[in-house]
Amino acid sequence: MDREKMVEELVKLVGKENVLSSETDLYLYGYDASLFRGKPDCIVLPGSTEEVSKIVKFAHEAGVHVVGRGSGTNLSGGTIPTQGGIVVHFSRMNRILEIDIENQRAVVEPGVFTLALKNALARYGYVYQPDPASEKVSTFGGNFGENSGGPHCLKYGVTTNHILGAEVVLYNGDVVHVGGKTLDNPGYDLTGVLVGSEGTLGIATKLILRIMPKPEAVKTMLAIYNTLEDAGKTVSAIIGDGIVPATLEMLDRLTIKAVEESIHAGFPLDAEAVLIIELDGLKDGMERLAERIMEICKKNNVREVKAAKTEAERMQLWAGRKGAFGAIARLRPNYLVCDGTVPRTKLPEVLTKVMEVGRKYDLSIANVFHAGDGNLHPLILFDERNEEELRKVHLAGSEIMKLCAEAGGTISGEHGIGTEKKKEMLFVFTPQDIGAMKKVKMAFDPEDIYNPGKVLPEIQE
Ligand SMILES: Cc1cc2nc3c(=O)[nH]c(=O)nc-3n(C[C@H](O)[C@H](O)[C@H](O)COP(=O)(O)OP(=O)(O)OC[C@H]3O[C@@H](n4cnc5c(N)ncnc54)[C@H](O)[C@@H]3O)c2cc1C
Repeated sequence: MDREKMVEELVKLVGKENVLSSETDLYLYGYDASLFRGKPDCIVLPGSTEEVSKIVKFAHEAGVHVVGRGSGTNLSGGTIPTQGGIVVHFSRMNRILEIDIENQRAVVEPGVFTLALKNALARYGYVYQPDPASEKVSTFGGNFGENSGGPHCLKYGVTTNHILGAEVVLYNGDVVHVGGKTLDNPGYDLTGVLVGSEGTLGIATKLILRIMPKPEAVKTMLAIYNTLEDAGKTVSAIIGDGIVPATLEMLDRLTIKAVEESIHAGFPLDAEAVLIIELDGLKDGMERLAERIMEICKKNNVREVKAAKTEAERMQLWAGRKGAFGAIARLRPNYLVCDGTVPRTKLPEVLTKVMEVGRKYDLSIANVFHAGDGNLHPLILFDERNEEELRKVHLAGSEIMKLCAEAGGTISGEHGIGTEKKKEMLFVFTPQDIGAMKKVKMAFDPEDIYNPGKVLPEIQE
């Protein structure tokens, strides 16, 4: 459809001020936090489910693609309009609709920032547990799309364990409801299918979330290591001992350097690795558990374990971890965040191989990751203006995913597949497995309206 006509029709549905189509707008919405770029035909900012439904119905009838977008912070090209179409940006649908403390539920629109709900819950002494490092700006729509993780997901589970239901607009504009406020809903678990579907099956316009009382006590420790291997072994040993801390995060030397230059979190510059170990739960027994963890750290050659003495010290450590991706940007103009998962016991071995890949391609790699989940984030540093370097970055990223798959892990822990890792899906799935997923896509979106060209690789059926 001709772009001018499309804009004219959409203006009739949502008003002139809620349709963007200048060349600057199209350029800006062609980006997300990945290395990919695209160009939409226009951008629409709906204010209600009804408007989303009308937009999608129009797109369906006109045969135009629709890409849902929260803040565009996904790292796998999930919001890149690779085949043009309408970007539906949820910035106006940003209301917390309900906080139901007695039943431990909240209902939000997709454009609510993850941290905004946490801040709203704080006054009740409640918390929404998944905590992507991007939570200041990531939206619940995006968390839903990517099945996002975060440091506390080690103990509490990822987004799919905390989204219990949703209102969803289907490819033809129909509005349906999946899941609900109760824990065990009859019928097929469509919420489970939709969480993590990266905007390819439907668009969520409301989300029902599980909220929890804040833990009574928290203890945060910084364990400092002279080798990455010892830090990795500590992670396996802690979990192997039957302890599941709230978080077990690791940062390596290069990341520590970048963080200290910008955030001054108090990480020692001469360490090869640090672990941020946080315990939460009942006060009773917490000190004993902390002592047990210190013993395990010592057995694995820790140099020093420091406990945060005040909330301010604790926040400082977390500022270092959560600001790490941003801090790394000081080192080189660009970086590719790899996201793979390996069995925890394989962490030291795979990390060594990751660094070998860096040497092979002459690329610097920094590591900051959810070690407790075995979820690696090697950050490959480069300058995108250097085409040869960019080519090597893609090769190195793919090789790292292969290492994860060969170690018995997988090619994503939380950042999704998007545009970036479609061919790597074949490292972990057979063509038959992919074929089964394609059938799910066909059932939800037979005309490929939603986010085309994402997640699933082309296969011979
Ligand atoms: C500095 C930094 C740190 C990060 N740290 C983490 C981390 O710790 N853990 C983690 O998991 N991720 C992390 N991420 C990745 C990213 O922030 C998350 O994937 C986040 O959930 C994306 O939210 P968003 O609002 O930006 O979504 P977007 O990037 O806009 O969208 C993500 C996907 O969801 C789809 N989508 C958006 N809205 C809807 C909707 N309403 N219905 C259906 N689908 C929708 C989109 O089409 C797209 O496929 C980080 C990113 C950055 C830049």
